[in-house]
Amino acid sequence: MSLNHIRKPILIIGAGIAGLSLARTLAAHSIPAIVFDDASETRRQGFGVTLRSWGYDSLLKRAGVTAQDFQETVATDAAVGGHGYISTTVHDVYTGTDLIKMAHRPGAQMVTQEFFRANRFRLREFLMKGRVNERSPIDVRFQHVFEGYEVLSDKKGVVAKFANGERVEGSILVAADGVHSTVRKLVLPQILPSVLHSVTFNGIINLPRKEFDTTSLGTMMEKNNVYIGMGDLFNISLAVNDQTDSEVELSWSYSRPIKSLLDPESDTLYERNAEDPNMIKEAFFDEIATFQPSLASPFAEIFASESIRKTVRYQWVMRSIRCSREDLIETAWQRSGLVVLIGDAAHAMPIFAGEGGNHGLLDGVQLGDLIAEHSKNQDEGMNVAIQTFYDGALERWSDALDGSEKRLNGLNQPIQTWRKMAAAKAAVSEEK
Ligand SMILES: Cc1cc2nc3c(=O)[nH]c(=O)nc-3n(C[C@H](O)[C@H](O)[C@H](O)COP(=O)(O)OP(=O)(O)OC[C@H]3O[C@@H](n4cnc5c(N)ncnc54)[C@H](O)[C@@H]3O)c2cc1C
Repeated sequence: MSLNHIRKPILIIGAGIAGLSLARTLAAHSIPAIVFDDASETRRQGFGVTLRSWGYDSLLKRAGVTAQDFQETVATDAAVGGHGYISTTVHDVYTGTDLIKMAHRPGAQMVTQEFFRANRFRLREFLMKGRVNERSPIDVRFQHVFEGYEVLSDKKGVVAKFANGERVEGSILVAADGVHSTVRKLVLPQILPSVLHSVTFNGIINLPRKEFDTTSLGTMMEKNNVYIGMGDLFNISLAVNDQTDSEVELSWSYSRPIKSLLDPESDTLYERNAEDPNMIKEAFFDEIATFQPSLASPFAEIFASESIRKTVRYQWVMRSIRCSREDLIETAWQRSGLVVLIGDAAHAMPIFAGEGGNHGLLDGVQLGDLIAEHSKNQDEGMNVAIQTFYDGALERWSDALDGSEKRLNGLNQPIQTWRKMAAAKAAVSEEK
């Protein structure tokens, strides 16, 4: 298939990070594309994600936006003039003292800051609209629930079908519809997410600005958007989701490994309430009560029994998806026909300690550039583009999946191990 054949738009299912990054890149190459999303345009996704320069640099280059402008537009504290600064120091939850600094990625280039905290909703707005008030360079159609697709004879294109009865013809179908991807379920039904051996809860705290500024939280998180605490085989993190002159929204998370690898089901908190993940089991509150009295500020206040009940919202499940080259090229692209998977649909990784958003951004740019580069004149251009994309991406995804699972496990050490590490680091610094 050549670019002459892709005058039909590329159909992208999912207006998340990966789908929008691809659509922006294709728009920069003047290749037609339509993005479909099942949600409404006003759906707010207010949480924060850590973005890394290796994930967003190439997108910014194509969009002609500097890293500083990007941070000032999408950071969790952008509305109060911040850049999403993240301190890498982790704290002892029992004493409140500093333990160690989480390693920065070796060899990474510092643009302004190598990583920063972005608000997910502002990031989506940026990806869709470019700079504030700019006309969107991409065609995004909300409230389009993708249900199925057909391949046209001689693989001349695809027709995507939506729950509202619409059928839209395009050149290829890109699955960017996230971890529970409907497209993946159709073309690779055998690929199921693995549920990792972790227990994680999340809560939201909304504070009037004045109250935030005058509590210990405000002091500890002044200009810092993520505050991490290590306990005995568990960790707690506090993060700014958004802040304005009048209000601060924070989220907390509590995470630990399951109690027995040999018998995961014996851990009453391993499986969340299947009908409603917002229904929090009493066993969670009982568990928090066992260590809350020994916590230092601000953890003690946040995890106090009456506060935690008011703020807890959700039990997260850590999932990962791994697809092989054969799944992606031979089955989804060649046999099922003209389907490419990117983002979480292809390689979901744990949301905690994972880098799925960054890989989604990179997937979009790399795939878009390769389609533009290879599809121009050769008949087999699209085939070459897709295979070249997977050749590079599969190794990157596999390394990222391994790394994220390793980091997730590494976060949970006995507190004595953290303290020994901190003492060893301090001794080395003194010797220098
Ligand atoms: C709380 C939280 C914190 C996270 N923190 C980080 C972090 O710090 N760093 C990081 O790199 N990553 C982080 N992640 C992960 C990151 O958000 C995901 O990896 C990233 O959003 C994946 O992008 P995506 O475009 O593949 O999928 P998504 O962003 O999930 O987008 C998929 C889109 O497809 C749409 N869709 C689904 N089904 C259909 C259908 N049938 N029809 C039409 N549309 C459909 C959905 O509505 C959605 O908009 C975090 C995730 C969460 C939830």
